[in-house]
Amino acid sequence: MFKSIRWRIASSYVALIVLATFLLSVYLLQFVRDNYLRNLESRLIAEARLVSIDSEQYFSARGTAEELDTLAKRLGGETGARVTIVDLDGVVQGDSIENPAMMENHGARPEIRQALASGVGESSRHSSTVGYDMMYVAVPIKVGEKVVGVARVALAVTEIDRSLGHIARTIAAAAGAAAFLAILVAMYLARVTTEPVKRLERMAAALASGNLDQRIRIDSPVELGELANAFNRMAERLKATISAISEEHGKLAAIMANMADGIVITDGDGKVTLLNRAAESILGTSNERAQGQSLAEAVRDHDLVQLLTECRIQAKAQPCVRLFQLQASKRYVKGVATAVRDSNSAQYLVVLQDLTEVRRAESVRREFVGNVSHELRTPLASMRALVETLQDGAMDDPPAAKDFLRKMEIEVDEMTQMVRELLELSRIESGQVDFKMEPTDFGPLVRQTVERMKAQAERAGIELATEVTGDLPIVVADGERIRQVLVNLIHNAIKFTPPPGKIIVSVLPATEPQVSGVAVSVADTGVGIPADDLARIFERFYKADKSRSSGGTGLGLAIAKHIVQAHGGNIWVESRVPAGRGGGSTFHFSLPLTSV
Ligand code: ADP
Repeated sequence: MFKSIRWRIASSYVALIVLATFLLSVYLLQFVRDNYLRNLESRLIAEARLVSIDSEQYFSARGTAEELDTLAKRLGGETGARVTIVDLDGVVQGDSIENPAMMENHGARPEIRQALASGVGESSRHSSTVGYDMMYVAVPIKVGEKVVGVARVALAVTEIDRSLGHIARTIAAAAGAAAFLAILVAMYLARVTTEPVKRLERMAAALASGNLDQRIRIDSPVELGELANAFNRMAERLKATISAISEEHGKLAAIMANMADGIVITDGDGKVTLLNRAAESILGTSNERAQGQSLAEAVRDHDLVQLLTECRIQAKAQPCVRLFQLQASKRYVKGVATAVRDSNSAQYLVVLQDLTEVRRAESVRREFVGNVSHELRTPLASMRALVETLQDGAMDDPPAAKDFLRKMEIEVDEMTQMVRELLELSRIESGQVDFKMEPTDFGPLVRQTVERMKAQAERAGIELATEVTGDLPIVVADGERIRQVLVNLIHNAIKFTPPPGKIIVSVLPATEPQVSGVAVSVADTGVGIPADDLARIFERFYKADKSRSSGGTGLGLAIAKHIVQAHGGNIWVESRVPAGRGGGSTFHFSLPLTSV
């Protein structure tokens, strides 16, 4: 508290006032004392003269010592002072307090000697007669021009001091009151002077705590007014700068959060300071958990740690690049680590590009080319064999030649079918197919399709039935494409069901939580699909039993899946091996009322 400006100003004022009052009081007291003593001296001289005049007649008339003593006692009673009358020999003739006979010779007393020498004698000293300090004033007693004795008047100094003490107390009380008032005024002035400073201080505190809208107006003193204006300008600038920075920060944070690439930032010691959302998902940890940990503790991936270490130990500011597979998530990533150094610190930025999808697409592409070549190789090889057999002479045997040509036609048909399906699939996948979406009644659509397939099923010794349950809603769909899905599923069911089997195609209103629409299923009593193959059955070219030549291309279910998905629906399968009671497969698909 005593370090504050206010207290410093107030205490300086107070010290000054107290000192001035003290000095003034001392001076005043001295002055009053001097004045008092001078007055007293004049009074005593006047009284001594009166004593001198009164005692003159006794000397001229040669009065007795008793008469002089009586005079001294009377005058002492009247003046309140001690009166002494001494003759020229120094013998005390009268005294207002003591018996003169008992008193020693006063001829040697300084005031007596001085009075005889210069007309007035004065002395302050201890009186051996009365036993305390006295102030003496003496004047000669003259008869005509002749000096006959000395009249002395004395007053006890304690008496003087008592009077002076009273004056000193009055002065001290006045000085104390003046000092007290002055202190109050000093404190008020200090408060008034420091109030603008206090306001500035409050504004600065508000600014420091983030309240940038705080402004202040000070009219006086001018210097503080200017300081306040400077503060206001600073607050304005600060606000503008902070809002610009937070806008930038917001943009940066939004970019970081929505970036597809993972970002990891570490401090100079390799401790994680930030992971963006993509990095959280790629590395399988959270920003909160990783913060403050070393990268090795946070992620536990050798390659990633190695990448950062490489970047930290290399002197050049070049980025370090590494392609690797993350141990935990098995994702393929391209990591680029860069040092961001300024004069006194370093940070490291690791950008993680998830290449898993790219790699998967690449391997799908490679697998696709492999599959297409494999699928074409078989019919082409049998075509070649047939052509060679024809060239080797079978052409001369018309019935055999006819048979070979028929077989060649089947192979060509199969290849044509495959190429058509491939084209179809690629067009659906790339969104080139226009779906003719119309309100469709699934009851008639399913019944008609099943009717058309009945002959084929009967030829294979299989019963094909329809079950339409409940009030089917009208669904917006491309009827022809949905028919194609149904044909594929029924066709597969016939193909993979040995006689005597049964296929039931059922359709009912879908009541799944998120979709309301229709649900269709094709259930057979066929060979079923091994559990290991279920997940891959809808991939192109995937065939569950590769040894069995079903004559299919492996594309039918992939096409069905794409058509259903293009309608915003789902397709899935439940299946059990072996065939027979409880065996077989059931393919389901559901479509929403309107596709999304
Ligand atoms: P494919 O032309 O070979 O029939 P799909 O894509 O239609 O091609 O079917 C892929 C594979 O799924 C088939 O080769 C078969 O192994 C299996 N599959 C499809 N439907 C059934 C079914 N109803 N019963 C058993 N297996 C089936």
